Amino acid sequence: MSTPRIAIVGAGQAAAQAVETLIKRGHQGLITLLGDEGLLPYQRPPLSKKFLAGTLDRDRLLIRHGAHYTDHGVDLRVGFAAASIDRALRRIDIADGTSVEYDRLLLATGSHPRLLPLPGAELVGVHYLRSVADVDKLRAELAPGRRVVIIGGGYIGLEVAATCREAGLDVTVLEAADRVMNRVVSPAVSAFYEAEHARRGVQILCGARVDSLVPDSTRVAAVRLEDGHELAADFVLVAIGVVATDALARAAGLECDNGILVDEYCRTSDPHIWAAGDCARHPSIHYGMRVRLESVDNAFEQGTSAALNMLGIRTIHDKVPWFWSDQFDLKMVIVGLSAAHDEVVLRGDPAGRAFSVCYLRDGELIAVETVNHTKDQMAARKMIPARARPDLAKLADPAVALKDAV
Ligand SMILES: Cc1cc2nc3c(=O)[nH]c(=O)nc-3n(C[C@H](O)[C@H](O)[C@H](O)COP(=O)(O)OP(=O)(O)OC[C@H]3O[C@@H](n4cnc5c(N)ncnc54)[C@H](O)[C@@H]3O)c2cc1C
Repeated sequence: MSTPRIAIVGAGQAAAQAVETLIKRGHQGLITLLGDEGLLPYQRPPLSKKFLAGTLDRDRLLIRHGAHYTDHGVDLRVGFAAASIDRALRRIDIADGTSVEYDRLLLATGSHPRLLPLPGAELVGVHYLRSVADVDKLRAELAPGRRVVIIGGGYIGLEVAATCREAGLDVTVLEAADRVMNRVVSPAVSAFYEAEHARRGVQILCGARVDSLVPDSTRVAAVRLEDGHELAADFVLVAIGVVATDALARAAGLECDNGILVDEYCRTSDPHIWAAGDCARHPSIHYGMRVRLESVDNAFEQGTSAALNMLGIRTIHDKVPWFWSDQFDLKMVIVGLSAAHDEVVLRGDPAGRAFSVCYLRDGELIAVETVNHTKDQMAARKMIPARARPDLAKLADPAVALKDAV
Protein backbone atom coordinates (compact mmCIF):
# COMPACT_ATOMS: atom_id res chain seq x y z
CA MET A 1 0.00 0.00 0.00
CA SER A 2 1.84 3.13 -1.15
CA THR A 3 -0.38 5.81 0.37
CA PRO A 4 -2.10 4.45 3.45
CA ARG A 5 -4.63 6.66 5.22
CA ILE A 6 -3.17 7.42 8.61
CA ALA A 7 -5.33 8.53 11.52
CA ILE A 8 -3.99 9.78 14.84
CA VAL A 9 -6.13 9.95 17.96
CA GLY A 10 -4.93 12.56 20.45
CA ALA A 11 -3.45 15.88 19.39
CA GLY A 12 -0.64 16.33 21.91
CA GLN A 13 3.13 16.08 21.94
CA ALA A 14 3.49 12.54 20.53
CA ALA A 15 0.84 13.12 17.87
CA ALA A 16 2.40 16.38 16.71
CA GLN A 17 5.78 14.71 16.40
CA ALA A 18 4.30 11.80 14.47
CA VAL A 19 2.70 14.28 12.04
CA GLU A 20 6.05 16.07 11.62
CA THR A 21 7.76 12.79 10.85
CA LEU A 22 5.10 11.81 8.31
CA ILE A 23 5.41 15.20 6.61
CA LYS A 24 9.22 15.09 6.58
CA ARG A 25 9.18 11.60 5.10
CA GLY A 26 6.91 12.85 2.30
CA HIS A 27 3.88 10.75 3.19
CA GLN A 28 1.31 11.36 0.44
CA GLY A 29 -1.73 9.64 1.96
CA LEU A 30 -4.33 11.36 4.08
CA ILE A 31 -3.36 12.23 7.66
CA THR A 32 -6.27 12.81 10.04
CA LEU A 33 -5.50 14.18 13.49
CA LEU A 34 -8.26 14.04 16.10
CA GLY A 35 -7.96 15.95 19.35
CA ASP A 36 -10.61 16.38 22.00
CA GLU A 37 -9.28 19.57 23.58
CA GLY A 38 -10.33 22.05 20.91
CA LEU A 39 -6.77 23.38 20.66
CA LEU A 40 -3.88 22.88 18.27
CA PRO A 41 -1.21 20.53 19.65
CA TYR A 42 0.67 22.35 22.41
CA GLN A 43 3.46 21.82 24.94
CA ARG A 44 2.39 21.04 28.49
CA PRO A 45 5.59 21.76 30.51
CA PRO A 46 4.96 25.55 30.72
CA LEU A 47 1.52 24.88 32.23
CA SER A 48 3.03 24.50 35.69
CA LYS A 49 5.75 27.09 35.11
CA LYS A 50 5.82 30.21 32.90
CA PHE A 51 2.33 29.88 31.46
CA LEU A 52 0.81 29.50 34.92
CA ALA A 53 2.89 32.47 36.08
CA GLY A 54 1.49 34.50 33.18
CA THR A 55 4.91 35.20 31.65
CA LEU A 56 4.42 33.08 28.52
CA ASP A 57 1.76 33.80 25.91
CA ARG A 58 -0.78 31.17 24.90
CA ASP A 59 0.52 31.29 21.32
CA ARG A 60 4.00 30.27 22.47
CA LEU A 61 2.65 26.97 23.78
CA LEU A 62 1.75 25.78 20.30
CA ILE A 63 4.03 23.18 18.77
CA ARG A 64 3.08 24.45 15.28
CA HIS A 65 0.69 27.11 14.04
CA GLY A 66 -2.54 26.08 12.33
CA ALA A 67 -1.28 27.09 8.87
CA HIS A 68 1.44 24.45 9.10
CA TYR A 69 -1.13 21.66 9.22
CA THR A 70 -3.28 23.23 6.50
CA ASP A 71 -0.24 23.82 4.25
CA HIS A 72 0.63 20.12 4.49
CA GLY A 73 -2.91 18.92 3.91
CA VAL A 74 -3.37 17.49 7.41
CA ASP A 75 -7.04 16.97 8.22
CA LEU A 76 -6.83 18.44 11.71
CA ARG A 77 -10.00 18.04 13.73
CA VAL A 78 -9.66 19.66 17.11
CA GLY A 79 -12.57 19.45 19.52
CA PHE A 80 -13.40 15.92 18.38
CA ALA A 81 -13.23 12.99 20.78
CA ALA A 82 -12.79 9.50 19.38
CA ALA A 83 -15.58 7.51 21.04
CA SER A 84 -14.77 4.01 19.81
CA ILE A 85 -12.69 2.04 17.32
CA ASP A 86 -14.17 -0.59 15.04
CA ARG A 87 -11.05 -2.63 14.35
CA ALA A 88 -12.74 -4.95 11.86
CA LEU A 89 -13.88 -2.02 9.70
CA ARG A 90 -10.80 0.09 10.58
CA ARG A 91 -12.98 2.99 11.55
CA ILE A 92 -12.97 5.48 14.37
CA ASP A 93 -16.35 6.65 15.54
CA ILE A 94 -16.37 10.20 16.79
CA ALA A 95 -18.59 11.46 19.59
CA ASP A 96 -20.50 13.79 17.20
CA GLY A 97 -21.71 10.82 15.14
CA THR A 98 -19.18 11.15 12.29
CA SER A 99 -16.40 8.65 11.63
CA VAL A 100 -12.91 8.38 10.14
CA GLU A 101 -11.63 5.37 8.22
CA TYR A 102 -7.97 4.46 8.48
CA ASP A 103 -5.45 2.01 7.11
CA ARG A 104 -3.06 2.70 9.99
CA LEU A 105 -3.91 4.22 13.32
CA LEU A 106 -1.76 5.83 15.99
CA LEU A 107 -3.13 6.15 19.51
CA ALA A 108 -1.50 9.11 21.25
CA THR A 109 -4.12 9.74 23.91
CA GLY A 110 -1.69 10.71 26.70
CA SER A 111 -2.60 10.46 30.36
CA HIS A 112 -4.93 12.21 32.77
CA PRO A 113 -4.64 13.20 36.44
CA ARG A 114 -5.36 10.59 39.08
CA LEU A 115 -8.45 11.74 40.97
CA LEU A 116 -8.45 12.21 44.72
CA PRO A 117 -10.64 9.41 46.09
CA LEU A 118 -11.64 11.25 49.24
CA PRO A 119 -14.67 13.12 50.63
CA GLY A 120 -14.77 16.74 49.46
CA ALA A 121 -12.82 16.14 46.25
CA GLU A 122 -15.76 17.52 44.24
CA LEU A 123 -15.84 20.90 46.03
CA VAL A 124 -15.40 24.18 44.19
CA GLY A 125 -11.78 25.34 44.47
CA VAL A 126 -10.29 21.86 44.06
CA HIS A 127 -8.10 21.79 40.95
CA TYR A 128 -6.13 19.42 38.77
CA LEU A 129 -3.50 20.41 36.21
CA ARG A 130 -3.18 18.81 32.81
CA SER A 131 -4.48 21.23 30.20
CA VAL A 132 -4.68 24.88 29.21
CA ALA A 133 -8.31 24.82 30.38
CA ASP A 134 -7.10 23.68 33.82
CA VAL A 135 -4.60 26.57 33.94
CA ASP A 136 -7.31 29.08 33.05
CA LYS A 137 -9.28 27.93 36.11
CA LEU A 138 -6.24 27.70 38.37
CA ARG A 139 -4.86 31.07 37.37
CA ALA A 140 -8.08 32.76 38.44
CA GLU A 141 -7.25 31.62 42.01
CA LEU A 142 -3.72 33.05 42.05
CA ALA A 143 -3.40 36.25 44.07
CA PRO A 144 -0.76 37.30 46.60
CA GLY A 145 -1.59 36.20 50.12
CA ARG A 146 -4.07 33.48 49.13
CA ARG A 147 -3.51 30.07 50.68
CA VAL A 148 -3.03 27.07 48.42
CA VAL A 149 -2.65 23.54 49.69
CA ILE A 150 -1.05 21.23 47.13
CA ILE A 151 -1.71 17.53 47.62
CA GLY A 152 1.25 15.63 46.17
CA GLY A 153 4.96 16.46 46.32
CA GLY A 154 5.92 15.18 42.87
CA TYR A 155 7.23 17.27 39.99
CA ILE A 156 3.99 18.98 39.13
CA GLY A 157 3.05 19.71 42.73
CA LEU A 158 6.47 21.21 43.42
CA GLU A 159 6.62 23.18 40.17
CA VAL A 160 3.23 24.73 40.96
CA ALA A 161 4.39 25.35 44.53
CA ALA A 162 7.38 27.30 43.20
CA THR A 163 5.26 29.29 40.73
CA CYS A 164 2.65 30.12 43.37
CA ARG A 165 5.26 31.10 45.94
CA GLU A 166 6.94 33.42 43.44
CA ALA A 167 3.50 34.96 42.85
CA GLY A 168 3.28 35.73 46.59
CA LEU A 169 0.91 32.98 47.70
CA ASP A 170 1.03 31.12 50.97
CA VAL A 171 1.93 27.58 49.87
CA THR A 172 1.72 24.23 51.68
CA VAL A 173 2.64 20.93 50.01
CA LEU A 174 1.34 17.68 51.51
CA GLU A 175 3.30 14.56 50.62
CA ALA A 176 2.19 11.14 51.87
CA ALA A 177 5.67 9.56 51.55
CA ASP A 178 8.60 10.42 53.77
CA ARG A 179 10.20 12.68 51.14
CA VAL A 180 9.23 14.62 48.03
CA MET A 181 9.61 13.13 44.54
CA ASN A 182 10.35 9.82 46.25
CA ARG A 183 9.39 7.72 43.23
CA VAL A 184 11.84 9.41 40.90
CA VAL A 185 14.87 10.92 42.65
CA SER A 186 17.45 9.99 45.26
CA PRO A 187 17.09 10.99 48.92
CA ALA A 188 19.90 13.57 48.40
CA VAL A 189 17.94 15.33 45.66
CA SER A 190 14.70 15.18 47.67
CA ALA A 191 16.42 16.71 50.70
CA PHE A 192 17.96 19.42 48.55
CA TYR A 193 14.59 20.38 47.04
CA GLU A 194 12.82 20.30 50.40
CA ALA A 195 15.42 22.72 51.78
CA GLU A 196 15.23 25.01 48.73
CA HIS A 197 11.43 25.19 48.94
CA ALA A 198 11.55 25.81 52.70
CA ARG A 199 14.13 28.58 52.23
CA ARG A 200 11.64 30.35 49.97
CA GLY A 201 8.75 29.94 52.36
CA VAL A 202 7.00 26.86 50.96
CA GLN A 203 5.78 24.66 53.80
CA ILE A 204 6.29 20.98 52.94
CA LEU A 205 4.75 18.34 55.17
CA CYS A 206 5.95 14.80 54.46
CA GLY A 207 4.21 11.74 55.84
CA ALA A 208 0.98 13.79 55.61
CA ARG A 209 -2.02 11.60 54.92
CA VAL A 210 -5.11 13.45 53.77
CA ASP A 211 -8.42 12.35 55.27
CA SER A 212 -10.84 14.71 53.51
CA LEU A 213 -11.44 18.19 52.16
CA VAL A 214 -13.51 20.39 54.43
CA PRO A 215 -16.25 22.56 52.86
CA ASP A 216 -17.53 26.02 53.59
CA SER A 217 -20.83 25.73 51.72
CA THR A 218 -19.87 24.42 48.26
CA ARG A 219 -16.27 25.62 48.35
CA VAL A 220 -13.21 23.98 49.87
CA ALA A 221 -12.09 25.68 53.07
CA ALA A 222 -9.51 23.31 54.54
CA VAL A 223 -7.68 20.03 54.15
CA ARG A 224 -8.09 17.61 57.02
CA LEU A 225 -5.29 15.15 57.73
CA GLU A 226 -5.80 11.67 59.15
CA ASP A 227 -4.29 12.83 62.46
CA GLY A 228 -7.14 15.38 62.75
CA HIS A 229 -4.99 18.40 61.92
CA GLU A 230 -6.65 20.92 59.53
CA LEU A 231 -4.92 23.24 57.10
CA ALA A 232 -6.96 26.24 55.95
CA ALA A 233 -7.05 26.62 52.18
CA ASP A 234 -8.47 29.15 49.73
CA PHE A 235 -7.97 26.55 47.04
CA VAL A 236 -6.40 23.12 46.59
CA LEU A 237 -4.39 21.53 43.81
CA VAL A 238 -4.46 17.74 43.59
CA ALA A 239 -1.24 16.50 41.96
CA ILE A 240 -1.02 12.81 42.85
CA GLY A 241 0.15 11.44 39.53
CA VAL A 242 -1.43 10.52 36.23
CA VAL A 243 -3.13 7.49 34.74
CA ALA A 244 -2.67 6.33 31.14
CA THR A 245 -5.61 7.29 28.93
CA ASP A 246 -6.16 3.82 27.53
CA ALA A 247 -9.95 3.37 27.90
CA LEU A 248 -10.50 3.73 24.14
CA ALA A 249 -7.88 1.07 23.45
CA ARG A 250 -9.23 -1.26 26.14
CA ALA A 251 -12.78 -0.94 24.82
CA ALA A 252 -11.44 -1.84 21.37
CA GLY A 253 -9.92 -5.02 22.83
CA LEU A 254 -6.27 -3.99 22.55
CA GLU A 255 -3.93 -5.48 25.14
CA CYS A 256 -3.47 -2.98 27.97
CA ASP A 257 -1.84 -3.14 31.38
CA ASN A 258 -1.07 0.24 32.93
CA GLY A 259 -1.11 1.68 29.41
CA ILE A 260 -1.45 0.31 25.90
CA LEU A 261 1.03 -2.51 25.43
CA VAL A 262 3.27 -2.06 22.38
CA ASP A 263 6.24 -3.96 20.99
CA GLU A 264 9.68 -2.51 20.17
CA TYR A 265 8.16 -1.11 16.94
CA CYS A 266 5.48 0.79 18.91
CA ARG A 267 2.87 -1.59 17.52
CA THR A 268 -0.10 -2.69 19.64
CA SER A 269 -1.67 -6.15 19.68
CA ASP A 270 -3.50 -5.08 16.47
CA PRO A 271 -1.06 -4.94 13.52
CA HIS A 272 -2.82 -1.86 12.11
CA ILE A 273 -2.60 0.16 15.32
CA TRP A 274 0.42 1.78 16.99
CA ALA A 275 0.64 3.76 20.25
CA ALA A 276 3.06 6.40 21.53
CA GLY A 277 3.63 8.79 24.43
CA ASP A 278 2.23 8.73 27.96
CA CYS A 279 -0.46 6.17 27.00
CA ALA A 280 1.98 3.49 25.75
CA ARG A 281 3.92 0.89 27.72
CA HIS A 282 6.88 -0.36 25.73
CA PRO A 283 9.76 -2.80 26.19
CA SER A 284 12.98 -0.89 26.89
CA ILE A 285 15.70 -3.02 25.37
CA HIS A 286 18.43 -0.97 27.04
CA TYR A 287 17.01 -1.58 30.50
CA GLY A 288 15.46 -5.01 29.91
CA MET A 289 12.05 -4.08 31.26
CA ARG A 290 8.69 -2.76 30.17
CA VAL A 291 8.14 0.93 30.94
CA ARG A 292 5.52 3.61 30.58
CA LEU A 293 7.13 7.02 30.57
CA GLU A 294 5.60 10.44 31.10
CA SER A 295 7.88 12.98 29.44
CA VAL A 296 8.20 15.22 26.42
CA ASP A 297 11.34 13.40 25.30
CA ASN A 298 9.53 10.06 25.32
CA ALA A 299 6.51 11.45 23.47
CA PHE A 300 8.82 13.00 20.89
CA GLU A 301 10.97 9.91 20.35
CA GLN A 302 8.10 7.43 20.38
CA GLY A 303 6.00 9.65 18.12
CA THR A 304 8.90 9.60 15.66
CA SER A 305 9.47 5.84 15.90
CA ALA A 306 5.77 5.02 15.57
CA ALA A 307 5.39 7.24 12.50
CA LEU A 308 8.40 5.64 10.81
CA ASN A 309 7.03 2.17 11.51
CA MET A 310 3.58 3.16 10.21
CA LEU A 311 5.33 4.13 6.98
CA GLY A 312 6.91 0.69 6.84
CA ILE A 313 10.39 1.96 7.81
CA ARG A 314 11.24 -0.67 10.43
CA THR A 315 12.61 1.23 13.41
CA ILE A 316 13.28 -0.30 16.79
CA HIS A 317 12.35 2.13 19.54
CA ASP A 318 15.11 1.85 22.13
CA LYS A 319 16.04 5.23 23.60
CA VAL A 320 17.54 6.15 26.93
CA PRO A 321 14.92 8.58 28.25
CA TRP A 322 15.49 11.93 29.91
CA PHE A 323 13.23 14.26 31.82
CA TRP A 324 13.50 17.77 33.23
CA SER A 325 11.84 19.79 35.96
CA ASP A 326 12.18 23.55 36.62
CA GLN A 327 11.48 24.82 40.12
CA PHE A 328 12.50 28.38 41.08
CA ASP A 329 15.94 28.90 39.48
CA LEU A 330 16.76 25.19 39.75
CA LYS A 331 16.97 23.00 36.68
CA MET A 332 16.86 19.29 37.32
CA VAL A 333 17.51 16.87 34.47
CA ILE A 334 17.27 13.13 34.94
CA VAL A 335 18.87 10.94 32.31
CA GLY A 336 18.09 7.22 32.24
CA LEU A 337 16.18 4.97 34.61
CA SER A 338 17.58 4.22 38.04
CA ALA A 339 15.15 1.47 39.11
CA ALA A 340 17.55 -1.48 39.17
CA HIS A 341 20.68 0.26 40.54
CA ASP A 342 23.05 -1.34 43.04
CA GLU A 343 25.36 1.66 43.62
CA VAL A 344 24.82 5.41 44.02
CA VAL A 345 27.57 8.02 43.75
CA LEU A 346 27.14 11.69 44.65
CA ARG A 347 29.16 14.15 42.56
CA GLY A 348 29.65 17.54 44.16
CA ASP A 349 28.13 19.21 47.19
CA PRO A 350 24.41 20.05 47.13
CA ALA A 351 25.29 23.15 49.19
CA GLY A 352 26.97 24.48 46.05
CA ARG A 353 23.58 24.19 44.25
CA ALA A 354 25.07 22.32 41.28
CA PHE A 355 25.57 18.58 41.72
CA SER A 356 24.74 15.17 40.31
CA VAL A 357 23.76 11.74 41.55
CA CYS A 358 24.97 8.79 39.48
CA TYR A 359 23.38 5.33 39.54
CA LEU A 360 25.20 2.16 38.53
CA ARG A 361 24.27 -1.47 38.04
CA ASP A 362 27.06 -4.06 37.93
CA GLY A 363 29.51 -1.20 37.28
CA GLU A 364 27.53 0.26 34.37
CA LEU A 365 26.22 3.83 34.50
CA ILE A 366 22.41 3.55 34.16
CA ALA A 367 21.08 6.92 35.29
CA VAL A 368 22.22 10.38 36.37
CA GLU A 369 20.21 13.05 38.17
CA THR A 370 21.66 16.51 37.67
CA VAL A 371 20.78 19.75 39.40
CA ASN A 372 21.98 22.90 37.62
CA HIS A 373 24.69 20.83 35.94
CA THR A 374 24.50 20.95 32.15
CA LYS A 375 27.91 19.37 31.60
CA ASP A 376 27.09 16.23 33.57
CA GLN A 377 23.69 16.04 31.90
CA MET A 378 25.17 16.24 28.41
CA ALA A 379 27.85 13.69 29.27
CA ALA A 380 25.26 11.31 30.75
CA ARG A 381 23.19 11.46 27.58
CA LYS A 382 26.16 10.03 25.68
CA MET A 383 27.59 7.70 28.32
CA ILE A 384 24.43 5.85 29.34
CA PRO A 385 23.43 4.72 25.83
CA ALA A 386 27.10 3.70 25.32
CA ARG A 387 26.90 1.57 28.50
CA ALA A 388 29.90 3.37 30.06
CA ARG A 389 31.58 1.78 33.06
CA PRO A 390 33.07 4.68 35.03
CA ASP A 391 35.86 4.50 37.56
CA LEU A 392 34.15 4.99 40.93
CA ALA A 393 36.86 7.21 42.44
CA LYS A 394 36.86 9.49 39.40
CA LEU A 395 33.07 9.51 39.34
CA ALA A 396 32.95 10.73 42.93
CA ASP A 397 35.45 13.51 42.23
CA PRO A 398 33.59 16.57 40.89
CA ALA A 399 36.93 17.98 39.68
CA VAL A 400 37.02 15.18 37.10
CA ALA A 401 34.56 15.83 34.27
CA LEU A 402 31.92 13.11 34.10
CA LYS A 403 32.89 12.34 30.50
CA ASP A 404 36.47 11.68 31.71
CA ALA A 405 35.42 9.37 34.55
CA VAL A 406 35.64 6.23 32.39
C1 LIG B 1 1.70 20.59 34.02
C2 LIG B 1 2.63 19.64 33.33
C3 LIG B 1 3.99 19.89 33.34
C4 LIG B 1 4.88 19.02 32.70
N1 LIG B 1 6.21 19.28 32.74
C5 LIG B 1 7.07 18.46 32.09
C6 LIG B 1 8.46 18.76 32.06
O1 LIG B 1 8.93 19.74 32.65
N2 LIG B 1 9.27 17.92 31.37
C7 LIG B 1 8.79 16.82 30.69
O2 LIG B 1 9.55 16.10 30.06
N3 LIG B 1 7.47 16.50 30.73
C8 LIG B 1 6.61 17.31 31.40
N4 LIG B 1 5.28 17.01 31.42
C9 LIG B 1 4.81 15.75 30.79
C10 LIG B 1 4.61 15.92 29.31
O3 LIG B 1 3.93 17.11 29.00
C11 LIG B 1 3.85 14.71 28.78
O4 LIG B 1 4.62 13.56 29.06
C12 LIG B 1 3.56 14.80 27.30
O5 LIG B 1 2.68 15.87 27.03
C13 LIG B 1 2.97 13.50 26.79
O6 LIG B 1 2.62 13.65 25.46
P1 LIG B 1 1.45 12.75 24.84
O7 LIG B 1 1.32 13.17 23.40
O8 LIG B 1 1.66 11.34 25.17
O9 LIG B 1 0.14 13.19 25.62
P2 LIG B 1 -0.59 14.62 25.67
O10 LIG B 1 0.36 15.73 25.38
O11 LIG B 1 -1.30 14.62 26.97
O12 LIG B 1 -1.64 14.52 24.48
C14 LIG B 1 -2.69 13.61 24.47
C15 LIG B 1 -3.92 14.30 23.87
O13 LIG B 1 -4.88 13.31 23.51
C16 LIG B 1 -6.16 13.80 23.82
N5 LIG B 1 -7.10 12.66 23.85
C17 LIG B 1 -7.20 11.69 24.79
N6 LIG B 1 -8.21 10.83 24.46
C18 LIG B 1 -8.73 11.26 23.29
C19 LIG B 1 -9.79 10.81 22.46
N7 LIG B 1 -10.52 9.72 22.76
N8 LIG B 1 -10.07 11.51 21.33
C20 LIG B 1 -9.36 12.62 20.99
N9 LIG B 1 -8.34 13.10 21.76
C21 LIG B 1 -8.03 12.45 22.90
C22 LIG B 1 -5.90 14.46 25.17
O14 LIG B 1 -6.95 15.32 25.54
C23 LIG B 1 -4.61 15.23 24.85
O15 LIG B 1 -4.90 16.44 24.24
C24 LIG B 1 4.37 17.87 32.04
C25 LIG B 1 3.00 17.61 32.03
C26 LIG B 1 2.13 18.50 32.67
C27 LIG B 1 0.65 18.22 32.66
